[in-house]
Amino acid sequence: MSTRTQLTRRQALLEGASFCSVGAFVPKSAHDARAFVTEEVAPGIHIRRGVDEDVTAQNEDAIANIGFIVGRDAVAVIDPGGSLIDGQRLRATIRQATQLPIKYVVMSHVHPDHIFGAPAFQQDHPQFVGHARLPRTLALRAEFYRKRLEDTLGKERAGGAVAPTMLVQDHAEIDLGDRVLGLTAHGTAHTDCDLSVMDRYSGTLLPADLLFVQRVPSLDGSLRGWMKELAALKSAPAHRAVPGHGPTSVKWPLGASDLERYLGILLRETKGAIAKGTDLEAAVSTVAQGERSRWKLFDDYNGHNVTQAFKELEWEQ
Ligand SMILES: [Zn+2]
Repeated sequence: MSTRTQLTRRQALLEGASFCSVGAFVPKSAHDARAFVTEEVAPGIHIRRGVDEDVTAQNEDAIANIGFIVGRDAVAVIDPGGSLIDGQRLRATIRQATQLPIKYVVMSHVHPDHIFGAPAFQQDHPQFVGHARLPRTLALRAEFYRKRLEDTLGKERAGGAVAPTMLVQDHAEIDLGDRVLGLTAHGTAHTDCDLSVMDRYSGTLLPADLLFVQRVPSLDGSLRGWMKELAALKSAPAHRAVPGHGPTSVKWPLGASDLERYLGILLRETKGAIAKGTDLEAAVSTVAQGERSRWKLFDDYNGHNVTQAFKELEWEQ
């Protein structure tokens, strides 16, 4: 049961069509006339906006913001997409934009809507880049995610996890030719394996799901950890950021303010509920309800977020 407002495909397309589009891949098949539209949010940074939905057979898990960065000598993919078909469309769009080699595929964290398109890039033999903890978390979850996605999309279209070939412990850099991307492996926050990308050349931060805008965040790591990492990211040398979900680009650090407010309320109200002796079930139906009208998919995720926060905070008293 869900009370969320779903964007129709037509609305999503219209929204996409209003972007200053630089890449548009239209599949040849009559069965699938959908366009894959990217926006150049900064010179050489091309982002496809995911739809604000959960995965369905219709949206093919194209629900996260994904894209690519072009340097003088090479291309880096920053999140390969939510399914094999999503990744294939991204790859075709890259090939229309440039013939430079795809040398890196950055996998921002374990969630399938960001990385299950990775198999579409194996033919390019890139470095698949991930947080040092990504292999362990993939080992625990990838099979579950794959089966669930195959149930929704079918085996041929689902894709799956690719093992990272380059692991980031704290910080690392990748050079696309006159364009060095800084990679940061974060402490447990949205998940336990969040990797962000900083493009100093254009002053653009790509924090993936460390930043949600308009779509309610989902907490799958640590509430306190996320608040800490978000506070640190705000001082990144960036004037824009690309959220993992929401618009393709927001001002930075201003674009962090809604997420910061939500996480702060989640912390405060969950702590308050625990202090009053409220049980988890009652907390789930009351905590952060003042935020309900401010976020898409609120009813699908807030209860889970409260549960996560409750479990994390109940031992702190
Ligand atoms: Zn995520």
